Amino acid sequence: MTIRITPTHLADGRELFYFDDSPPYAEGRLTRRLDDPRPLADRSAPFKDPLTGQLTKPTGPQMRLDRLTGEWIPMASHRMDRTFLPAADSCPLCPARPAPAEPAPAEPGTTAQAVQDGEIPDTDYDVVVFENRFPSYWRAPDQGIHTAQEDEAGLWRSRPAAGRCEVVCFSSQHGAALADLPETRIRTIIEAWAVRTEALQATDGIAQVYPFENRGAEIGVTLSHPHGQIYGYPNTTPKTGAMVRQAAAYHRQTGRHLLPDLVAAEATGPRLVAQSQHWLAYVPYAARWPVEMHLAPRKDRPDLPSLSPAERDDLAAIYQRLLRGLDRFFVDADGAPIPLPYIAGWHQAPVDPTLRPLGRLHLQFFSIRRAPGKLKYLAGSESGMGAWISDTTPERIADRLRAALAEADANTAADAAPQSNTGIGTQAGPAADAATNADAAAGRTAS
Ligand SMILES: [Zn+2]
Repeated sequence: MTIRITPTHLADGRELFYFDDSPPYAEGRLTRRLDDPRPLADRSAPFKDPLTGQLTKPTGPQMRLDRLTGEWIPMASHRMDRTFLPAADSCPLCPARPAPAEPAPAEPGTTAQAVQDGEIPDTDYDVVVFENRFPSYWRAPDQGIHTAQEDEAGLWRSRPAAGRCEVVCFSSQHGAALADLPETRIRTIIEAWAVRTEALQATDGIAQVYPFENRGAEIGVTLSHPHGQIYGYPNTTPKTGAMVRQAAAYHRQTGRHLLPDLVAAEATGPRLVAQSQHWLAYVPYAARWPVEMHLAPRKDRPDLPSLSPAERDDLAAIYQRLLRGLDRFFVDADGAPIPLPYIAGWHQAPVDPTLRPLGRLHLQFFSIRRAPGKLKYLAGSESGMGAWISDTTPERIADRLRAALAEADANTAADAAPQSNTGIGTQAGPAADAATNADAAAGRTAS
């Protein structure tokens, strides 16, 4: 499979990358639209401060050190240029609309080819990655990365939140879900994660890279368009710091690496959920969420860029299968699946060469849903103390997940079975149905 990457810049200077697997684009016969006609100010250019009237250089968000815990907390204190706001009913992740056939009055932000309400200039795309317009982490040009002491006693310390936040659009179809996409498209998304991880790891000042997806209004997702994010953090996060300390202690005691040993142990245990040639999915021994699953490569890999092409192909297949199973984890009274709100994030080795040998690639997938219609809230012990209490057992999660996976597999097999016995091949199979459903959900006219 060929995947072509086409970089461009949005009107305000942010980078955007098309990742195309559709033949005319992947093979270079067609090129996506590259210009962004929106009237956005260059986000890196000096601007007139509304309070002082002075010409001011833009700065990125700041992080402050919580002296009690040692954690860095980003503050959304930077200037946000909101001169362009999309219409309330338009989705910023949908592709541009084809221009009406009849000549329409010229409006700002329109061209003859398309009407761009959102972030993506072309009227269609396979997978797109672009810099978040309102990032929690951003490094302005010429901005340093050093910690400043803000008081004489040294209690108050701050530094620029000089990282990077990217958005990954999984599909141009507003109503699609990652699990419903063809395996080839999931493979393209994996490629986008790996390529962007490698680029961000090589960016000065970035300490670790975290591709993740939040799915579902229950976990605060405001855009239902299927998408994920990639954070390039300027510091090692608290979670990664804790995992690196555990791995270091284990290595001192045994001379061995922790995650590969855990994965090998889960491979033959009661919490194994699924396996493929290159990947193992399991519920971890001390899972804390009502639904939790880890997915790790059989071979010891630090990050997504280090995966072989065969491992990436295999990941697309098993990840699609697992997502379909997870969406059947809970069913309603009639046995209909209840789509699972979830967070899925890739843990990768940090950039720091002293920490990097201790980090290992794995996906952590979890949900706050504990029953149909019931969510787990982080209450006093979890929120106040970081002390988790599980409402179930990891073995019970694994049992249900294996059953849900079998149901999803049976469903997929039934969908893939021939629809008629006439011997005449049909194109109106499940893929066509899925596309029509997605169009219907997006309020579009099916062609
Ligand atoms: Zn959309």
